[in-house]
Amino acid sequence: MVENEAALGITKMIVDGRVDELTDKQWFTFEKYVANVHIVENCERCQIPIPWCEMLEALDNGGYCNYCVHMMSKEGN
Ligand SMILES: [Zn+2]
Repeated sequence: MVENEAALGITKMIVDGRVDELTDKQWFTFEKYVANVHIVENCERCQIPIPWCEMLEALDNGGYCNYCVHMMSKEGN
């Protein structure tokens, strides 16, 4: 559980754009407890790499970048 909390904090730092502040140990924790399990590497629709700042949303919306989510919501109308 301690690892999960640490991983969550690290993920928040990455989402906030504070990637440069992460230590090697924090990267290790992140890769072990977050990246291996939760990463969405490419958008399911357009295949572009999803930036870190959109990663949590992509996990939520099924693996799409913000652009595709926007386009799909338009198409749905
Ligand atoms: Zn996309």
